[in-house]
Amino acid sequence: MKILLLGKNGQVGWELQRALGILGEVTALDRHLAKTNYGDLKGDLSDLSSLREAIRSVAPQLIVNAAAYTAVDMAESERDLAYTVNALASQVIAEEAKRLNAWLVHYSTDYVFDGSGNTLWKETDSVAPINYYGETKLQAEQFIRATGCNHLIFRTSWVYAARGNNFAKTMLRLAKERSTLNVIADQVGVPTGADLLADVAVAAVQQACRKPELGGIYHLAPAGETTWHAYARFVIEFARSQGECLAVECVNPIATTEYPTPARRPLNSRLDTAKIRNSFKLHLPHWQSGVARMLMEAFNK
Ligand code: NDP
Repeated sequence: MKILLLGKNGQVGWELQRALGILGEVTALDRHLAKTNYGDLKGDLSDLSSLREAIRSVAPQLIVNAAAYTAVDMAESERDLAYTVNALASQVIAEEAKRLNAWLVHYSTDYVFDGSGNTLWKETDSVAPINYYGETKLQAEQFIRATGCNHLIFRTSWVYAARGNNFAKTMLRLAKERSTLNVIADQVGVPTGADLLADVAVAAVQQACRKPELGGIYHLAPAGETTWHAYARFVIEFARSQGECLAVECVNPIATTEYPTPARRPLNSRLDTAKIRNSFKLHLPHWQSGVARMLMEAFNK
C-alpha cells in the first residue's frame, strides 16, 4: 500500500511515522519542501494548490492527515489561517482521496461538542463548538463527509507524547521551577497518547480496507477519566516515585473561571468509545499506564 502522511513531526505524526511502516511505503511530509521518490514535495496545509499537487504526485492509496492548526487560543485571532489549515486543507485532501479512491485517516477533537453535562459524548450527539478551533475542526469533518471519500475520523482529547509539547511535560517543567501550582479542576477528560492514536489508526485501516462499511467517525481515548488537576498530581507523584527532584509542594485546584484564556474550553471532554471498541474489536488501556510510560521515556529510564 502506498501511503502519504501529512504533519509528520507533530505528536501524532511522529508516532504515525513508526506505526504506518507495517502497512506499506510511507511518504511523510511536513510543511517544508523535501526530496521524495515522487519529486520535491511539501505538505503545507496553508498552500492548498501545492498540497493538491503533492497528493497527486504521490497518488497514495491511504492518506493520513496528522497536521493541524492546534494553537487553540491563537486560533481565536488567526482565524483565516486556522480555517485554511484545519478546514479548507481537509477538504482538498478529502477531494483528492475521493479522486484516487484512497482511504483518508483524519484526527478531530472533543471540542466539536459544547462540553455541557457530565455524560460521555457519543458520535451521534449534537455538535456545538464553543471556540474557533473547534469550529474549524467540525467544518473539516463536514467537508470530509461531503466528498464521499472512504474515511476514518478519530475524535480524541488531551493528546500527549514523549516528543512535542503537552500538558504533562509543562507540569513537569513547572514542578521543577515552582513550589505552588494552580491547576484547573473542573474540566474532565482523558489524556490520550499519540502512540495509541497511531496504533489504533493502523489496526482500523487494516480492517476498514477489507470492510469499507467500517468507515466513519469514531471517538478514541483510553479508559478512565480525570481532571487537569488530578492529571497534574499523577504526573508529579509519578515523577517523585522515580526519583525526580521537584520543587513543587502544593498543587491547588482552581476553577476554569479563575484561569481566563482567549478560547473557551469545554468542561466535559468525556468521549464514549464503545463504537470503536466494538467495531474494531479493540481494547483501550487505562490512561494512567500510557502517561506513566511516556514519563519514563521523558526521564530516560
Ligand atoms: P501537534 O501540534 O503536535 O502537531 C501538529 C502538526 O501540524 C505539527 O507538526 C505542525 O507543524 C503541523 N502543521 C501546523 N500547520 C501546518 C501547515 N500549515 N502545514 C503543514 N503542517 C502544519 O498536534 P497533535 O499531534 O497533538 O495533533 C494531531 C491531531 O489531533 C490534530 O488533528 C489535532 O487537531 C488533533 N487533536 C489534538 C489534541 C491535542 O490535545 N493536541 C486534542 C484533540 C485532537 P510544525 O511543527 O511545522 O508547526
